[in-house]
Amino acid sequence: MKQMGSVSMNNIFGIVPSRRLGRSLGVSTIPISTCSYSCVYCQLGRTRNMTIRRHNFFKIDDLVMQLKGYQDKKDKFDVITLVGEGEPTLYEQTGELIKRIKQLFDKPIALITNGSLFFLEEVRQDCMHADIVMPTLDAWDDDSFKTLNRPFKTITFEKMYNGLVDFRGEYKGDFYLEIMCVKGITDQGNNMALLTEKINKLNPDKVFVNTPVRPPAEKWVERCTKEFIEKLQKQFKTNTDLEIPDTNLYSHNLDLYQAIIEIIKRHPLDQSSIEKFCKNREEDPEQMIKRLSEDKNVERIKYENKVFYRIKSKKR
Ligand code: SF4
Repeated sequence: MKQMGSVSMNNIFGIVPSRRLGRSLGVSTIPISTCSYSCVYCQLGRTRNMTIRRHNFFKIDDLVMQLKGYQDKKDKFDVITLVGEGEPTLYEQTGELIKRIKQLFDKPIALITNGSLFFLEEVRQDCMHADIVMPTLDAWDDDSFKTLNRPFKTITFEKMYNGLVDFRGEYKGDFYLEIMCVKGITDQGNNMALLTEKINKLNPDKVFVNTPVRPPAEKWVERCTKEFIEKLQKQFKTNTDLEIPDTNLYSHNLDLYQAIIEIIKRHPLDQSSIEKFCKNREEDPEQMIKRLSEDKNVERIKYENKVFYRIKSKKR
C-alpha cells in the first residue's frame, strides 16, 4: 500500500485513499523495515531486519484495542488493510488477528504481502481468512528474483512461486497480483513475456502494474516509461493511475510537525503534499519545510523531478 495517509496510534494508519482498494484503514503488525526481501525499489530504503522468522511483534490485544478506536469512524473507510512497512505475514498471529477484526467490523479485510512465505502451510492458512490477498510478483526466475527482490538467503524463486501457486489453488477470496516494473530489467528482451507466463498461471482476479514513483532503496532504480506501463495495463485490463494522488492528508495528531514525521516514517512525502497539508491546517508551509530541511533525522531526496522527505533509515 503506497499512499499518503494519516497516523493516529502506533499500528493503525489512515484513512488512506488507496488506488487499488478505495478508502483504507491500515494496520501495521510489524516493526518498520522488517522483511524477507530487500527490494531495490523499496521506498523504506534497504531492509534493516531481514528475516523469515514469524513472531508476534505486537500483542494482539493491543492491536485490537487500537482498532476499537475506529469503530465510530466506520463510514469513513471501505476496507481494512494489513500492510506493513515490511512483510505483514511475518506477524505470527495474522490469521487470529483477521478473525478478531472481523468480529469488530463488517468490512472486507485485505492483506498486502510480498508472497514470499506462502510456501509455509501456516501462512497460507492464516491468509485464507482475508477477503482480498494481494501478493507481489516482480520476477520470473531466480536471477531476476535476486536482482529485484534480494530475498532472504533460503528463499529461492521456485520456493516462493510454488507457494503462490499452492495458495492460489486453495484460496476462495479475491486474489490480486501487483507487479513492480523496473527500467532496464522488466522492460528488457522477452522478460515481460516470461513474467506474463508466470502471472497467467496464477490466474489472478486483477493485476496491478506499478513502477517506482517514490524514492527507491537503490539510486540506479528508475521507473519504466509510461508507454511500457500502459501497454501492460491494457494487456492485464487494469487501469491504475501511477501518479501519486493529490489527496488531503489527515492526522489525529494535533502537532502538525509530529504528524508529518509519523507519516514520513512510513512513506516519503513530496513537498507539494506537505505544503497542502500545512495549508489545510492553516499553518505556514515555508516554516514547516524549513524545519524539515534542518532536521538531521530527515533526509531530502530528489526523485523524478520532485523533492521528497523521509526519515533517515536508522531513525525509523
Ligand atoms: S518493497 Fe515491500 S517486500 Fe520489498 S523490501 Fe520493501 S517492504 Fe519488503
